[in-house]
Amino acid sequence: MRVCFCVKTQLLISRVFSRPSTAVRWRAAQTRLFCSPPTGEEKPQRSMLRHLTTKIKATGPIPVAEYMREVLTNPVTGYYVRNNMLGPDGDFITSPEISQIFGELLGVWAVSEWMGAGRPKQLQLVELGPGKGSLASDVLRVLSQLRSVLGGASVSLHLVEVSPALSRLQAQNLTGSRSQEAHAEDEPVYRRGETAAGLPVSWYRRLEDVPTGFSIFVAHEFFDALPIHKFQRTQKGWREVMVDIDPEKPDQLRFVVAPSPTLASSTLVQADEGRGHVEVCAEGGVIIQQLARRIQEDGGAALIADYGHDGTKTDTFRGFKGHQLHDVLSSPGSADLTADVDFSFLRRSAGGGVACLGPIPQRTFLKNMGIDSRMQVLLRNCSDASARQQLIASYDMLTNPAKMGERFHFFGLVHPRRLARPPRPEGLKLEKKPSPAPLPVAGFTELSFS
Ligand code: SAH
Repeated sequence: MRVCFCVKTQLLISRVFSRPSTAVRWRAAQTRLFCSPPTGEEKPQRSMLRHLTTKIKATGPIPVAEYMREVLTNPVTGYYVRNNMLGPDGDFITSPEISQIFGELLGVWAVSEWMGAGRPKQLQLVELGPGKGSLASDVLRVLSQLRSVLGGASVSLHLVEVSPALSRLQAQNLTGSRSQEAHAEDEPVYRRGETAAGLPVSWYRRLEDVPTGFSIFVAHEFFDALPIHKFQRTQKGWREVMVDIDPEKPDQLRFVVAPSPTLASSTLVQADEGRGHVEVCAEGGVIIQQLARRIQEDGGAALIADYGHDGTKTDTFRGFKGHQLHDVLSSPGSADLTADVDFSFLRRSAGGGVACLGPIPQRTFLKNMGIDSRMQVLLRNCSDASARQQLIASYDMLTNPAKMGERFHFFGLVHPRRLARPPRPEGLKLEKKPSPAPLPVAGFTELSFS
């Protein structure tokens, strides 16, 4: 069975990747991993700062999670709500923006998981935090190339996006002018459209609004943008780190440590925690629980790709503006805020109802998915010297261990059935032979060409 699966996935890869097409969007620019310190102080984002100082004056210091949520997703002045921050002219660049190969490989992964689940009639592709829509667009291109494999399955795309500005950009990229805002009060969908090929696309603010059904979930650089709580070990026990107004400079913010336990510090720190400082993304934990429940009940799989650690790092909270590191408390709302994802926390949050895979380094995942074969095809078909150079640079950025290859990780959730040994056909008396090995999940296992 293993050979059979590998051949199938290999076939998917060769079908998709035998076609030459441009694979570089931009020359590999600064990502959030390779930024230099800021050269000068920025003008503060007055309205966000005023909003935060008013809040702190009214209620006292606020948790870092509340600060991060306000700064990034406040419906009026939030960083994600107002900006298009992705790309060379923005604040950072991501893998799907560096090379289309990235999204194509994730498209192959989605189809291979759909096949591994027994080719259900319905396939919902759900992306959390789709940015400019580039990843979804690359995944859909693969799906259209694999139309004959997908047969009569009804495919739909569901995007969970909090930013109206980015949702308009996604709609433009994915549907051209074939989308419109949905105004029905009682409906969770806020925009609907269809791709040129007629595939339905819907936008939601929250995962719980996405209809149930067999789904493949993808989240790339989404969990690192969710609010984190920060906790400091003190002589009196764990205390929450809060954001306060600097008493010396009333238009500046500073970190303070809560004098007594908060609800978060009493409930979110593990009893056996050994570090002196921890960051906990409670919202990320809730989303993982929702994904796990959906996969358990309706089938499907989730692929989460982000930078992170396995419960070992301490202070990773940082800001980015114009491809430079940025002080998290300065000019709130003008810069992206992010924290490394704690995959050990995500695994704990998933519970026992689903199987967790990884985290494995991006380099390993992409190589297991066949990135080298794809590169060979593209280079063979590319005679322009500068395009060849760009291809090689983007491949290097994605896979080099010193660049994104080992800082980014892939983490998967699959239905436990997916890893179980397939039942032996009834009526066959093969007592001595073990039942076939479980089907490996693409990307997390090296593809065999046997
Ligand atoms: N996945 C894209 C974009 C990453 S930036 C890429 O890799 O290029 C983070 C994305 O998540 C943005 O689209 C942002 O608007 C969205 N986002 C951030 N917080 C969110 C939240 N709480 N709910 C839904 N979307 C969110």
